[in-house]
Amino acid sequence: MNYHQYYPVDIVNGPGTRCTLFVSGCVHECPGCYNKSTWRLNSGMAFTQEMEDRIIADLNDTRIRRQGLSLSGGDPLHPQNIADVLKLVKRVREECPGKDIWIWTGYKLDELTADQREVVDLINVLIDGKFVQDLKDPSLIWRGSSNQVVHHLR
Ligand code: SF4
Repeated sequence: MNYHQYYPVDIVNGPGTRCTLFVSGCVHECPGCYNKSTWRLNSGMAFTQEMEDRIIADLNDTRIRRQGLSLSGGDPLHPQNIADVLKLVKRVREECPGKDIWIWTGYKLDELTADQREVVDLINVLIDGKFVQDLKDPSLIWRGSSNQVVHHLR
């Protein structure tokens, strides 16, 4: 997997203070996408074992308490991102007790493959669906257009 940005202390993408990772790769090509530069899977930088370890350490850093991890992009549920994202969310579940996991995806919850579902079964919140420019509404919280749904899964 590749990624574009990692913010170790983020107060914009999800509730509370968080760690946020923007991964590379998205097939949805939504008109008006705010993050077109992330579409190509090979854009950005390699997501290394060191980066994975750093995220776990940041989530457990007691000097700045993080509520959890946000994964956006690009699309964290792009089929070619699943293996690395699954490994990361499993580690957060096992090594970061009490931290929540939010994922933004262009896929719809009820259309996920078994592999994507395996990731989603481990997270707290999924914001699903493509961005639709005609349904854009700046007053919405955590989503860009009104077709997208914030699913609180656990
Ligand atoms: S799903 Fe998100 S990243 Fe992908 S094209 Fe749509 S708005 Fe852009």
